Amino acid sequence: KRIKVALLFGGKSGEHEVSLVSAASVFKHIDKERFDVALIAVDKDGAWFLQPQPLYDEKEGGFVVERKEENRVYAVPAGGLRTMAKPLDIELVFPVLHGTFGEDGTVQGLLELCDLPYAGAGVLGSSLCMDKAAVKRIWIQAGLPVVPFEELREVSWKRSKGAAASVRRAVDRFSFPLFVKPSRAGSSVGVSRCETEEGLYAAIEDAFSFDDKLLIEPAVQAKEIECSVIGNQELTTFAPGEIVPSHDFYDYDAKYIDPDGANLLIPSSLNEEQQKMVRQISARAYRVAEAEGFARVDCFYEEATGKVLLNEINTIPGFTKISMFPKLCENGGVAYGELLTKLLDLAVDRHKIRG
Ligand code: ATP
Ligand code: MG
Ligand code: MG
Ligand code: MG
Repeated sequence: KRIKVALLFGGKSGEHEVSLVSAASVFKHIDKERFDVALIAVDKDGAWFLQPQPLYDEKEGGFVVERKEENRVYAVPAGGLRTMAKPLDIELVFPVLHGTFGEDGTVQGLLELCDLPYAGAGVLGSSLCMDKAAVKRIWIQAGLPVVPFEELREVSWKRSKGAAASVRRAVDRFSFPLFVKPSRAGSSVGVSRCETEEGLYAAIEDAFSFDDKLLIEPAVQAKEIECSVIGNQELTTFAPGEIVPSHDFYDYDAKYIDPDGANLLIPSSLNEEQQKMVRQISARAYRVAEAEGFARVDCFYEEATGKVLLNEINTIPGFTKISMFPKLCENGGVAYGELLTKLLDLAVDRHKIRG
């Protein structure tokens, strides 16, 4: 008997379009002999719609969201999902949603209430990993090496602007160039590199349009490394990959728009010893951050010091067939379709344990 899986995609976040492409890729490669797939799109307002058949944007290759009121999906605590007309027979959910209201524990909480197993991290892991400032504090507490940061809240910026205590500390502690980023975002949305104090203020204003909590960090001079990790209790890490951006940094354009925006090295240029260090640190970072199922750990390898510095962790990383997360698994012998099966199996296992 095939397992009935719902793919949830789209979403309210700035990464809506990225999700449409990730989900189309997942749908194409999921093992249809094992899984009977239902498609549920989340529109930009956050409303859920059952998609009777897949609709594609021919240019982008991603899904198009069809919003028909009669196909609107409702979540029922202890009762799964339904439309107005009928209950949906779904046993398992794969949230292929990036960013806010998808990757951050909110959807995970809703699925817990509906008693539906789902792929990826649970409520705490999702929300903790979504918040760069919070997860870095957990990592520091666990003795893991992180890119140093100062945290800036919008209230204190509005009150004091450049005189805000954490802005002053950032400028004193770190030297330019600096990075400014929203604490809870992804795909480099709202991330800026700044060379001057004036530029820093402009970057802060911009980043506050995405979140009311920001990080200010020194620009790390290092190899940019990403590591795929899968598992619940027992973890598998894969040989890390490396990003060599042709832009100033790996910005939204370099990720999705400019085909020559970045070179992905799989595996990375790190030697055996360095790779081992990245994999060990990534596995510990995953565990203490309460990640489950799968995640991509982003870090830097600083050649000058020989240190690995954790940057962030993504509990629902880009998931097209050519995205870094699945590519690293593939390089390690787990093909895309097989990986999907594994992640869904892990979701069922966890649900059995937790009940
Ligand atoms: P994603 O989830 O898509 O990987 P994100 O929006 O969560 O991205 P980051 O990964 O923290 O944000 O930053 C985006 C990019 O900005 C990084 O891939 C890197 O190129 C650059 N970057 C971020 N922080 C720093 C830093 N402190 N030093 C140097 N480069 C940085
Ligand atoms: Mg991220
Ligand atoms: Mg992300
Ligand atoms: Mg990143």
